[in-house]
Amino acid sequence: MIIDCHTHLNRYEESEPALLSDRYALLKAEMEQNEISYALVLSSYMVNDNRPGVDELLEVTGDDPQIGIVAGVSYQNYRASDLADLRLLLQNDKIKALKLYPGYEPFFVHDPRMRVVYEMAGEFGVPVMIHTGDTYNPKGRLKYSHPLQVDEVAVDFREVTFVICHLGNPWFLDAIEVIYKNENVVGDISGLTLGHFEERFERFMLQRLQEVVAFAGDPSSLLFGTDWPICDVGSYIRFVRNLGLNKEETDLILYKNTARVFNLDIGEATNA
Ligand SMILES: [Zn+2]
Repeated sequence: MIIDCHTHLNRYEESEPALLSDRYALLKAEMEQNEISYALVLSSYMVNDNRPGVDELLEVTGDDPQIGIVAGVSYQNYRASDLADLRLLLQNDKIKALKLYPGYEPFFVHDPRMRVVYEMAGEFGVPVMIHTGDTYNPKGRLKYSHPLQVDEVAVDFREVTFVICHLGNPWFLDAIEVIYKNENVVGDISGLTLGHFEERFERFMLQRLQEVVAFAGDPSSLLFGTDWPICDVGSYIRFVRNLGLNKEETDLILYKNTARVFNLDIGEATNA
């Protein structure tokens, strides 16, 4: 079984379908081809023609038992009504987590304005995913997305689980130290390449991930995610299988950790 904890239905390139329903069909095809049982779809920090909001995502994916929605929360374009909307979504069990985009947006995760978001995550017991490390966009600002920033909120909000997305790429050791030190922090391994892995780059990344697992002691805090459509799912699965871990450890990364952290009913996905 494989769960992809990090996918998007945004339209990043002109070559990608303009219709959300077509991009959703592509995701489903990619899942079927690679035997992905369940995927979390993350909405952006902005909503526009190429970036669907949570409502649009919920509408197009309907009651699909293989899909869970994660709501992107904006710092910059935050509206007073957003918190009420999020609360309603959480109350009705429509979203599985929240996602913040420091770096893409100029704010630190420990900005006092975000406290209310963490309090809500704690109240409903959902994780908060945090973009860390490199920004796909050169206009991003890296000081905000450094993984060390997550330690601040991890200490202040012990009851909330934080997901360091992309393992702080390329600050892997900083990320794993924050994960290792804080019981309430895990990391997803998504977005470590663009498209397919190039051979020399894959070797480099395999080494970094092996260091991360060695430092952590075991892979119980690492989650499989791809960042599809930015990364190719098939080469990502091969990448994880090439880490040289035993089956039990590989299964933790591929689905068990994610099912635990996001409280997923994976029976539902397998019966689909
Ligand atoms: Zn992403």
